[in-house]
Amino acid sequence: MNIQAELISIGNELLSGRTLNTHGRDLGEALAAIGLQLSRDTTIPDDIPVIGSAVDEALARVDLVFASGGLGPTIDDITRDALAKLLNQKVVIDQPTVDYLKEWYEQRGRTITLASTRQAQVLESAVVLPNSVGAAPGQRIELPQKKILFVLPGPPNEFNAILSEEIIPWLKKRYADARPRLVRVVCTQGIGESDIVTILEATGYEPQGIDLGFYPGMGKVEIRLAAAPGHEARIEEAEQTLRELLAGHLELS
Ligand code: AMP
Ligand code: MG
Repeated sequence: MNIQAELISIGNELLSGRTLNTHGRDLGEALAAIGLQLSRDTTIPDDIPVIGSAVDEALARVDLVFASGGLGPTIDDITRDALAKLLNQKVVIDQPTVDYLKEWYEQRGRTITLASTRQAQVLESAVVLPNSVGAAPGQRIELPQKKILFVLPGPPNEFNAILSEEIIPWLKKRYADARPRLVRVVCTQGIGESDIVTILEATGYEPQGIDLGFYPGMGKVEIRLAAAPGHEARIEEAEQTLRELLAGHLELS
């Protein structure tokens, strides 16, 4: 089972360098832990045609698409309108969310305004995913051909709360057979990437069915081995061989 997901991160500030896009890292890690794979993270501006085409293309490629950002109360928050146009759906007010927002604003000594009720607008076919730490809820939209579109607010604490409380438990049930990939890590020190590669090439180290990743840092290189679930013996052997080949260059733990 190889279920792939894509993230569309929406926001002008993510492209101008004002805000570091952290959603790809958080989503990639959360999906990998339950055996699903984030295969692409596309960052785009707050622009209706661009949002429409990016989400449309992602839905054509993979089963799970996450769109984040642009769900707030301000006029630059146009994600829901862009998605409604793309999917030919109406935007409707979700009354339980209006009630939640009223309470949310009251608890903060504020009253709900017309602008803030925009955050209770969802696509007509959406299942509303409560936001336990903020205002705008997430949405799960089930589409033809078993495609799922998740829509999530931009603030990282809200994105992560809805992801961990609502989405990951649901995905775990839906893909109950999915298993995380096996991962082993070997860390070297005092040897550069090109010298490591020279050793591996000279010895013909090319373990079958293992993906190798090299991640250099200050004076160190982290080598990650990954294999499909069920290949414990294969990854064990590949790790041991690698440790033998790089003996004398391994980081002391
Ligand atoms: P928005 O949901 O577009 O109104 O964004 C609300 C806040 O979340 C803004 O301060 C954004 O900069 C921040 N934000 C939106 N998307 C991301 C992202 N991908 N990574 C980190 N912060 C984000
Ligand atoms: Mg925004």
